[in-house]
Amino acid sequence: MPTVTREQILDALRNIVDPDLHRDIVSLGFVKEVAVCDGAVKTVIELTTPACPVKDQMKAEAERLIAQLPGVSAVHVEMTAQVRGRSLDPEDILPEVKHVIAIASGKGGVGKSTVSVNLAVALAQSGARVGLLDADIYGPSLPKMMGCQGEHPLVESGQIIPIRRYGVSVMSIGFLLEEEQAAMWRGPIVAGTVRQLFVDVRWGALDYLLVDLPPGTGDAPMTTAQLVPLTGVVIVMTPQAVAASIAGKSVALFRRLNAPILGVVENMAEFVCPCCGTRTAIFPGPGARAFAERLHVPFLGSVPLDPAVSVASDAGQPAVIAAPDSAQAQAFREIAGKLAAQVSVASMAG
Ligand code: ADP
Repeated sequence: MPTVTREQILDALRNIVDPDLHRDIVSLGFVKEVAVCDGAVKTVIELTTPACPVKDQMKAEAERLIAQLPGVSAVHVEMTAQVRGRSLDPEDILPEVKHVIAIASGKGGVGKSTVSVNLAVALAQSGARVGLLDADIYGPSLPKMMGCQGEHPLVESGQIIPIRRYGVSVMSIGFLLEEEQAAMWRGPIVAGTVRQLFVDVRWGALDYLLVDLPPGTGDAPMTTAQLVPLTGVVIVMTPQAVAASIAGKSVALFRRLNAPILGVVENMAEFVCPCCGTRTAIFPGPGARAFAERLHVPFLGSVPLDPAVSVASDAGQPAVIAAPDSAQAQAFREIAGKLAAQVSVASMAG
């Protein structure tokens, strides 16, 4: 019986190409361990995110490729993940946060907060360490959407401890102020408050900190992009032409601020009939996919409109929690995977 060598196993694994990074997993350094004992092979493949959309496919492919080698009697492939971050400089204002991702929209009401909440929970469900910062100073809706309205965060040694909900660390100005109190704030106070939400909160070690920005191109997006090194920005839009032209302004702003656009999420483009599953387009127009193509940014996916899920969400249960089998939850999980993949691409490039 021939014995299989480590080199043969690595050569076989070179056939697996990461679809986002366009290189094989061996040269990317993903293969962390190869052990052979009496024909039994164990290997550990470490991905750049636990939310990798092709994790299961890669595992199956690795098992198949190794099993085909002569002399192999058993195969065990373990998939792990280590999110690779920007260089964690102790001078950085968030030294333990690997990626800060802003969620932006040109205008209000397109579902930016709904998307932020569901992506945060979906990433946490995949095994990542996730924080969610509500920088929507004028209309903080995350406490309500995350089901922690009225809670008051503890303060320890001068630092605010985020509220934990659905596996996510949440911080919002809404925990600290009475409703409407911030509505009259002017630019410098907004900027100072956004800064506090980053600096005075004990975020701890995170793979992804998602920042729900206020709509538009005002002070909070500017402050955020200037204050923290953003891995990138997700733009949420509905498919109407007017939403597209306003979303275009957000893309232009973040490009000017040197923040990469990680992708576009389309929301409420379609209605999925709860009885028969038929999909009906709601708005006329070319949609967000065409917008993304025109601006050369990735299209991350489309979230259908679902009134039932919206009711649960406004009552504090995000779709991925309240209705994990719904078309909407499915879309959010896919988008979270694609986003995590884009983050990996951005950090490998940087
Ligand atoms: P924004 O943050 O852009 O202002 P929100 O996330 O607060 O928007 O969403 C506005 C309203 O639309 C909320 O009531 C929310 O529940 C609802 N909504 C958002 N996305 C969807 C969707 N895909 N299906 C049904 N309702 C949605």
